[in-house]
Amino acid sequence: MTPDFDIIIVGSGPAGVSAAFPLVEAGIRVLMVDGGRKPDVLPPERDFLSVRANDDDQWQWMLGKDFHALKMYDTVSPKLRVPSLAYVFEQFERENKIVGEDFVTIGSLASGGLSNAWGCGVARFSGEELESFPFPASELKASCAGVALRMGISGGVADDLSDFFGLDEWTQPPIEMDRLHSYLLNRYTASRRKLASLGFKTGRARIAVISNDRDDRQACNLSGNCMWGCRRRALYSAADELSALLKYDNFTLQSGFLVDSVSNQYGLRVIQGKSASEQAYRTISAKKILLAAGTLATTRLALQALGKYEEDVPLLSCPTAAFMLWVPRFLGIRRMPAIGIGQLAFTLALTGGITAYGANLATTGIGMSEFLRRAPLKRRNGIELFRNLLSSCIIGGLFLPGNLTRASACLRKDDSLHISGQYCDGATAVMNEAETKLRKSYSKLGALLIPKSFTIGSVGGDIHYAGTVPMKSAPSRGESTALGEVKSLDDVHVIDGACIPALPGKPHTFMIMANADRIAREIADRFKSSNS
Ligand SMILES: Cc1cc2nc3c(=O)[nH]c(=O)nc-3n(C[C@H](O)[C@H](O)[C@H](O)COP(=O)(O)OP(=O)(O)OC[C@H]3O[C@@H](n4cnc5c(N)ncnc54)[C@H](O)[C@@H]3O)c2cc1C
Repeated sequence: MTPDFDIIIVGSGPAGVSAAFPLVEAGIRVLMVDGGRKPDVLPPERDFLSVRANDDDQWQWMLGKDFHALKMYDTVSPKLRVPSLAYVFEQFERENKIVGEDFVTIGSLASGGLSNAWGCGVARFSGEELESFPFPASELKASCAGVALRMGISGGVADDLSDFFGLDEWTQPPIEMDRLHSYLLNRYTASRRKLASLGFKTGRARIAVISNDRDDRQACNLSGNCMWGCRRRALYSAADELSALLKYDNFTLQSGFLVDSVSNQYGLRVIQGKSASEQAYRTISAKKILLAAGTLATTRLALQALGKYEEDVPLLSCPTAAFMLWVPRFLGIRRMPAIGIGQLAFTLALTGGITAYGANLATTGIGMSEFLRRAPLKRRNGIELFRNLLSSCIIGGLFLPGNLTRASACLRKDDSLHISGQYCDGATAVMNEAETKLRKSYSKLGALLIPKSFTIGSVGGDIHYAGTVPMKSAPSRGESTALGEVKSLDDVHVIDGACIPALPGKPHTFMIMANADRIAREIADRFKSSNS
């Protein structure tokens, strides 16, 4: 039988798109399928602060015509309540049969996946962090360069975090910082020796946001709309790369196609699924299938294809915390236009050789209700307090390595994937140590960590998941080879976070993309040599 395509990629998120480029460039016939949802509430055209002050219709994107902003009240990230991003997360759990038990299970069925809503924090894993990966770190070098240049990254300067991020050779200059962050950075530069004893370092955040125009994307103009969606497309989304892929005759995109299972038929790999308009399941065949449906959805498809039911597989997920800083010196200043995602990043050395990572961002670009609902005050008093306080505040987020969560995924007989988890016993002590060290460090920088603002997130709420089908040099069933090929499932490759065997506190998407690119390059080479 002749296959319909050479390769099918399931998912058009950062992993799927990164694998697609090397394959189509090598002339391989690729079909990409994805959930394909599109936005229905557009983000504001003007900047956040002027729209908040002047737009009579702002309720439509602040609250949503269906009151979306009130529906997900308990979730940690405000992005999950932003009406213009509702399409990114919609129906993922139901349609992929994912069930969270004491675990927040976030995924996407949109073109471009979760990268339509992500925080754009990027970093490269160090040699030490790559030690458990079953291939030499040098094999990722070309992929890191290719992915970094394709995405567009800003923030590269010589500072104390240059080595931590390891990306500066490919970055554009940093985006203009607001006055509060500039103040913190200047104070840090003056007292960095003292802070070294606390294990605290800070510097510019490296983010997948452009500071110079390129192709059809425009540079960040500090609109503050990062949380709601950037009309200029300064922030990287994998969805923006689909038009470049569609220029290749050998690339086909099928949006709105939901894959329900993966199997073998007549010696070929096949996906079964359907789009919303189809009544019956359809089968599409290929020589190889690359799974890039996001860690959780990919795990379900892989376990189902293996027939691995009622067995727990481990899942890595970073514990997270959020906190608020007050810089008294700036009390009473006006809120200024600013980028609404990471401006400064920090690392914190903790007991046991653990490195926490975090980023600080402006309060501009976040609705006031986000702060009000956490304040132990009557609404009226809270509004007064935050009206005066917010312009002198900074928000911080902190991430710990994924092995501090004890989580697992289990495929049930009804084909639903159940995820459960809890933080490891030691994780709370590590969080407490982090809070104490951050309080001391920021006070040396002239900022107060607001009492009771340090909030530990729900398990899974960090949305950094990995390691359910980990790459190993000698994989057993349910693990994968260095090429992501699942043991006992020939020609089915896992290329997203599910195959990443170790998860530091660092942002991991850049490495997912580089690894997907690496796997695709190797597969393309093998196709070429088998055809010659
Ligand atoms: C609020 C938020 C902030 C974040 N911040 C950061 C950050 O700063 N830095 C960082 O590194 N990471 C961050 N992340 C995580 C980052 O977004 C993910 O790591 C990344 O998007 C994963 O890419 P992926 O391609 O593996 O999966 P996804 O982005 O989830 O893409 C999955 C794709 O698969 C498709 N799909 C899913 N199921 C099916 C199916 N059954 N059939 C067909 N198609 C399917 C979807 O339509 C989608 O196209 C953040 C995420 C969120 C939500």
